Amino acid sequence: MTIEYLKKAPLTAESDASDTNKIVQTILDEIEAGGDVKALEYAAKFDKYEGPVLLSQEDIAAASAQVPDRLKRDIDFAHANVKRFAEAQRSTLQDVEVEVVPGLVAGQRTIPVSAAGCYVPGGRYSHIASAIMTVTTAKVAGCDHIVACSPPRPGIGINPAIVYTAHKCGADKILAMGGVQGVAAMTFGLFGLPKANILVGPGNQFVAEAKRILFGRVGIDMIAGPTDSLILADKTADPKVVAADLVGQAEHGYNSPVWLVTDNRPLAEEVMRLVPELIDDLPEVNRDNATAAWRDYAEVILCSNRDEMAATSDSYAPEHLTVQADDLDWWLARLSCYGSLFLGEETTVAFGDKASGTNHVLPTSGAATYTGGLSVHKFMKIVTWQRATREGAKPVAEATARISRLEGMEGHARTADIRLHKYFPEERFD
Ligand code: NAD
Repeated sequence: MTIEYLKKAPLTAESDASDTNKIVQTILDEIEAGGDVKALEYAAKFDKYEGPVLLSQEDIAAASAQVPDRLKRDIDFAHANVKRFAEAQRSTLQDVEVEVVPGLVAGQRTIPVSAAGCYVPGGRYSHIASAIMTVTTAKVAGCDHIVACSPPRPGIGINPAIVYTAHKCGADKILAMGGVQGVAAMTFGLFGLPKANILVGPGNQFVAEAKRILFGRVGIDMIAGPTDSLILADKTADPKVVAADLVGQAEHGYNSPVWLVTDNRPLAEEVMRLVPELIDDLPEVNRDNATAAWRDYAEVILCSNRDEMAATSDSYAPEHLTVQADDLDWWLARLSCYGSLFLGEETTVAFGDKASGTNHVLPTSGAATYTGGLSVHKFMKIVTWQRATREGAKPVAEATARISRLEGMEGHARTADIRLHKYFPEERFD
């Protein structure tokens, strides 16, 4: 490949992982030992919050009453779209039954996990959409108990719109607790909550590290790092739209990479001219995030043709991938490593982040090489079963006994022998 970096990132998504690990492990250990009281102490320390943590029906009604009707209709619209897409995913999970050998039938069932814990981030921004993405999907999967937890603001509690959304999407309990203490409360079953079987949802490095440490005793959707986005653009792309889309994703955080991959130098140069202008025009917090992300993590890469662009994109395996180029069908067929793909200028990552129906909880930091994002399937256990007639069991038992003896597993072999001798007492087996 002959790619040229018109802008190379001085930093990569390396982090202070070992410090974070020690901090999070300590908090988890202390909360596991100290229970509700310790979790409340951490809520007071990190979020300066000392109000009620488990919301009552009255709390939910009061919060919902504060949400403007227009916003409620928008949330309801986004919820309906995410629900429709999740229901379509659910319909692809059919039970399977096959007669593997005559007389032995094996099958596969999909069973939802019982208790889901949905983390809804709320530190920097109030991620209403994360409540839609996680809770709705768990509900469609058929989980029995769904807990949504989100950080409270000092003296206020959870953002009322997040409360309205979590309730609307089907949360059975809403916990005003964020960070490691929120994750711990759902995992250890504090405050009378059911112990979560799976934890899902995005969050900062403390939330992600807590999920990573707890994985094994509880399931997780994925380990998510900072949001990243890549745009593939050719000469047909509008540089103003490309620049706006890059800036829109760079505002996620100071370490959220955005990458432009193109085969058109004038387009690249125009986008690089426009991006700083658009960033300067953002409100302060967003501007600070986007300035640092563009300066330290963004890249602009010039390729010689679309095959090279596609190969470059696949090597980055971005969380969000946008194509603003000719022949969208070619790109759809060619690209293979991404969390969610946005084809054409008429849709954009923000649509998927908020309201178009596909999930926004997606693999970051190259994890799209081995996994997709949050879906109904993540809440489902795919389990198998079998039953057999005596005739159906016979060849399987003979093979099992011989394989087991070769492996040195005499006890296994005898479970086959006992059946052969019981069902076919007249026959000899070696
Ligand atoms: P957050 O809710 O994840 O974290 C806030 C919590 O962090 C607080 O409640 C506090 O308890 C804890 N915390 C803060 N400082 C701490 C410290 N020093 N030690 C221990 N705990 C501490 O909110 P956030 O910080 O805004 O992060 C949200 C993240 O989610 C962002 O990185 C964003 O990009 C990501 N996100 C990703 C997606 C996706 O789909 N990939 C979607 C939405 C958000």
